[in-house]
Amino acid sequence: MKKQFAVIGLGRFGGSICKELNDQGMEVLAIDINEDKVNEYASVATHAVMADTTDENTLRSLGIRNFDHVIVAIGDNIQSSILTTLMLVELGLPHITVKAQNDYHEKVLLKIGAHKVVHPERDMGIRIAHNIVSKNVLDYLELSDEYSIVELMAGQRVDGRSLIDLDIRAKFGCNIMAVKREEYIDVSPAPDQNIKKGDILIVIGADKDITRMEQALF
Ligand code: ATP
Ligand code: ATP
Ligand code: CA
Repeated sequence: MKKQFAVIGLGRFGGSICKELNDQGMEVLAIDINEDKVNEYASVATHAVMADTTDENTLRSLGIRNFDHVIVAIGDNIQSSILTTLMLVELGLPHITVKAQNDYHEKVLLKIGAHKVVHPERDMGIRIAHNIVSKNVLDYLELSDEYSIVELMAGQRVDGRSLIDLDIRAKFGCNIMAVKREEYIDVSPAPDQNIKKGDILIVIGADKDITRMEQALF
């Protein structure tokens, strides 16, 4: 059976989640308190309804309990976001993802039982900053405060050298998870394989180790 998703709040963030889930062939219920938003998403989502999700009876009557995953994308109205999340937790929803507006909001959401809190503006800012600071960093995924996965573009300094030769794991304590060359991705790079300028190395490690490696080799 298809997974059932509900998106509450059809701003730019909730709206784009809605569109993408629909494009991926998922069933999506789109909910907003604003009638114009509901009309806008009527043709995008499987169903679109106007409702105030801070009202428990309204949530019940929507049959929200039967959904696999609910995304709360109410941004500016922190009170509504918190109340909605609390209702969903109390109804026992198995997966609740909530967009947080700031660190305090995030803290409250986690305390009341949200399963995952996202912070799209902050996270995108961090990723873009990494991209801007180093022209070799193509993408960046924060795993924790200290660990990340980054995509680095191989330059002149590593051209024609192997992983053994570069001795990356021993010298820098990070691991090359995969090497991308044009369309091809090698997810288990051989230690004796030569890297070519323009290859994209996907590196996992502590931020400080990745930075050391980046400065030495990229
Ligand atoms: P984005 O930045 O993603 O565009 P935002 O962070 O600015 O969004 P808002 O515009 O504040 O977020 O809220 C997103 C949507 O949530 C709005 O369309 C708003 O009508 C809806 N919303 C707010 N409160 C409720 C509520 N109680 N029930 C249902 N929807 C609500
Ligand atoms: P381990 O047992 O931890 O895999 P190893 O010394 O047996 O280490 P080899 O596969 O023999 O590893 O490779 C020799 C060196 O090449 C390693 O010490 C390491 O520094 C480097 N190396 C090999 N593969 C990678 C990789 N995927 N990422 C980073 N460095 C690597
Ligand atoms: Ca916003």
